[in-house]
Amino acid sequence: MFRDSSAYADKRTLVFGVTYHGSTAEPQSGLDNVYGKHISAGKLRVQLTWLARHFRVMTIAEILRRCREGNLPARTAFVAFHDGYAGNYHVAFPLLKELGIPADMLVPTAMVGTSCRFWVDVLDAALKHTDRRECSVRFEEEGLILPLETPEQRLEAAVLLRKHLKWQPEPVLEARLAQVLAQLGWDDPAGIPRLGEHETCLDWNQVREMAQAGIAIGSHTHRHVICAQQDAATVYLEMDTSRHVIQAETGQPCRVLCYPNGSYPRSGCDATDVIARGVGYECVLYMMEGHNLVHPRTFRLTGTAFGEQDTLDHVKYSLSAWRFKVRQMRGRKLWKWNRDTVDEPILPFDQIPRITTLGTKKIC
Ligand SMILES: [Zn+2]
Repeated sequence: MFRDSSAYADKRTLVFGVTYHGSTAEPQSGLDNVYGKHISAGKLRVQLTWLARHFRVMTIAEILRRCREGNLPARTAFVAFHDGYAGNYHVAFPLLKELGIPADMLVPTAMVGTSCRFWVDVLDAALKHTDRRECSVRFEEEGLILPLETPEQRLEAAVLLRKHLKWQPEPVLEARLAQVLAQLGWDDPAGIPRLGEHETCLDWNQVREMAQAGIAIGSHTHRHVICAQQDAATVYLEMDTSRHVIQAETGQPCRVLCYPNGSYPRSGCDATDVIARGVGYECVLYMMEGHNLVHPRTFRLTGTAFGEQDTLDHVKYSLSAWRFKVRQMRGRKLWKWNRDTVDEPILPFDQIPRITTLGTKKIC
């Protein structure tokens, strides 16, 4: 463990992280694209073209390798796609090939090649297709009455319910989601129509084709869980399983782990980082402001998520404010996060209890 961050003070290179979730041929809006997480092909083309013109874009593993070798160029960036939506194969992949941009695809391995759906997609589809004019739910701490007369009210309900459910422990989330779906008239979630093609997951043939074309396939855990909420044994198995599945399916090393629901320390923390390192990952990726001061011992990286709502000006502003960001990072606030190493976990890595099977996460 390297605890003296000053040892690398003169070897830090600024690296920008740009991340996306899904990508679609045509723009999607409303409940089909809450928070604009699926970016349309036209906007993605504009953003990637600009990025390739102004930065040296590399995969995360390449950035770390070149940094260790001491030849990481200035103005370097990486592009990462999370969540394993099939649109990233149909829309983003051809664009990346055409523009010659390497990228990282970070997939939740339990969902690849299945018809499983993220619970947020189930919620949005339930709100989109319900015939109810109101949804009234009572959670322990408060009651919510949500009008559903107009598309705008339904979108508002989707955002509010997300905020309410997202950070609950898994069993609470499942119980409350079932309560909401029942209130919307869906006693059987399997009967809820899908949002559309853009909700489909990648399959392993698509993942392999991308891997062979130079896309780095990384982990987004096995079942897309919030690691900071899980016990150490589950975190270990989530990380280890997804890494082994990716390596077996692609025949290539799986070097990067991206935490679902992304920010530090809500999604991952010092303790989960230590597990990730012990499992064999070379780097973990968080979703915060995408400015990194990379040095030879860097283990954490961060990326800014862009989506359908972001114009090229948003991207330019976010990336060009780097002087201010570097000052911030060199200050106390982010320095702890960006330092060379991570704290010891509550249990040392070799004492983390191992479990052999994961529970079911009802996302199908
Ligand atoms: Zn995700």
